[in-house]
Amino acid sequence: MGISTDGTDAAGGLGFNSLAIHAGQEPDRLTGSVTVPIYQTSTYKQDGVGGLRGGYEYSRSANPTRTALEECLAALEGGARGLAFASGLAAEDTLLRTLCTPGDHILLPDDAYGGTYRLVARVLARWGMEFTPVAMHDIAAVAAAVQPNTRMIWVETPTNPLLNIVDIAAVATIAHEQQAMLVVDNTFASPYLQQPLALGADVVVHSTTKYLGGHSDVIGGALVARDAEIGEQLAFHQNAMGAVSGPFDAWLVLRGIKTLGVRMDRHCSNAERIVRFLSEHPAVSSVLYPGLPQHPNHEVAARQMTGFGGMVSFRMRGGEEAALKVCGLTSLFTLGESLGGVESLIEHPGRMTHASVAGSLLEVPDDLIRLSVGIENIEDLLADLSAALA
Ligand code: PLP
Repeated sequence: MGISTDGTDAAGGLGFNSLAIHAGQEPDRLTGSVTVPIYQTSTYKQDGVGGLRGGYEYSRSANPTRTALEECLAALEGGARGLAFASGLAAEDTLLRTLCTPGDHILLPDDAYGGTYRLVARVLARWGMEFTPVAMHDIAAVAAAVQPNTRMIWVETPTNPLLNIVDIAAVATIAHEQQAMLVVDNTFASPYLQQPLALGADVVVHSTTKYLGGHSDVIGGALVARDAEIGEQLAFHQNAMGAVSGPFDAWLVLRGIKTLGVRMDRHCSNAERIVRFLSEHPAVSSVLYPGLPQHPNHEVAARQMTGFGGMVSFRMRGGEEAALKVCGLTSLFTLGESLGGVESLIEHPGRMTHASVAGSLLEVPDDLIRLSVGIENIEDLLADLSAALA
């Protein structure tokens, strides 16, 4: 792993939390402002034709607030180039249409985030992209699904909402034997808990709406490329396709990132306490969490993650009716979609986030509840769940 979460990286550079606060964020040259200003501008005065003062000419191509975020993202993921987008899906669309051409085939997780599946199956398939859903945690199934025209393997780990774990290094080997790219959606883990580029991925995707932003107040996305040349191709398409992050949104994500490490530590410790509580509760039939020794890929998670994250899913003995009831009874856990913010959320994937995949391969069990465990006091969170489950 390139960057340690509590010390310095192998090359003796800054540790993760220091990078989160400083990478790309030198005090403002003009005023000394310690925080990166929000450069809320579309264009820049030129000193004579082509005389750009800071290299900026038009904010779709580049904007200083967005540049700060992009440099910080690249540093945190250990990549050559970071790019910030208007949403996670905008980042995904740009990535897929930059690195693939019509007729290319990609492998998608059979439990991919529903929006990713919809983008590929309903939008990019019309453009000529071929795809096969695969159980990515089954390495033999991944190898068997590769075709001569497979250009990309897409991995999410942990997955949403079933919290499966995929061995990134093993899938990277399969992808590279086939001259295909490995893309990892690192939204659930964040770079604090998992560094896919160091494990062999070529590009990392984020919905920065989630843990990176961290406060449920912004929609954003990001790509980080390991290789500068691929980063350059992606940057060309970012400008050509135009789905960029606005300056204020970029600033919100940058501000969120400064506390990513401390928030993730608390998300993880709160989640572990909740997992313990749910595992012993008679109304719960099973708990899905990569930190549990009985999780089918616990050993892989322990190897490739530095913590098991703040997402917890569990199944109710009383089926869908019981699950819906619990979702309506919590008060501190807010009933809502999304995840990764400081506040705890509860949702019923079958009727909410994953309703669009009902009847498909991606359908989720109807007795499943997903929690995004926030950073509130753990005693309050446990009391809330205990009352709802009683
Ligand atoms: N990837 C994952 C794992 C997600 O959970 C989401 C959104 O929930 C996305 C991508 C899409 O991101 P956005 O909603 O920012 O477009």
